[in-house]
Amino acid sequence: MELLKNRILTDGRALNEQVLLVDSFLNHQVDPELMEQVGEEFAARFADAKIDRVVTIESSGIAPALMTALKLHVPMVIMKKQPSRILKEDTLQTEVFSFTKNAPFQLTVKAKFLPKGQRVLIIDDFLANGEAASGAIRLIEKAGGVVAGVGAVIAKVFQPGMANLKCAGYRVEVLAPVRRLDKDQIEFLEEKA
Ligand code: 5GP
Repeated sequence: MELLKNRILTDGRALNEQVLLVDSFLNHQVDPELMEQVGEEFAARFADAKIDRVVTIESSGIAPALMTALKLHVPMVIMKKQPSRILKEDTLQTEVFSFTKNAPFQLTVKAKFLPKGQRVLIIDDFLANGEAASGAIRLIEKAGGVVAGVGAVIAKVFQPGMANLKCAGYRVEVLAPVRRLDKDQIEFLEEKA
């Protein structure tokens, strides 16, 4: 998605070989018009996948996931990172290791928002080691749903998440695949037309 890649080159910043900051348009300050285009692109790529609902992980995935759900005309479910005091009954939980916090957290969702047999699309801002997406997959499958795909706005393809998910048989769509990062340098993977 050229518009997104250009925005990453203009407004994103590679901190080092591992971390890309996109907080001026994607996950802190959010550009709604760009998010609408992101939603349209995911909706087009998964148009044949018969998606019943979109699932994301709070909080950075919410903007792209909501726009995708809007374009696909399906509900969007937010998996929580902390068990809440009021969210006790009927919850599913799994431990996930956070890339940004470098610590584990309990990914939590109410089972009733993942009805059995539904085809679910996971949308997140980044795919790095694939811990967050794998946690979401565990919960969806535990609830009896089918993971119809994983969409990442950005994937750092030099980290193992994307390859592992594909290897496990999941359909993965990435709008901006990053091949290499270094301080103030960002290189995208060349995509076949
Ligand atoms: P994973 O679970 O695939 O290792 O990491 C994905 C999660 O970590 C995403 O939900 C995202 O919030 C965060 N993340 C991973 N890599 C980056 C990065 O380079 N920059 C930012 N801002 N967040 C990242």
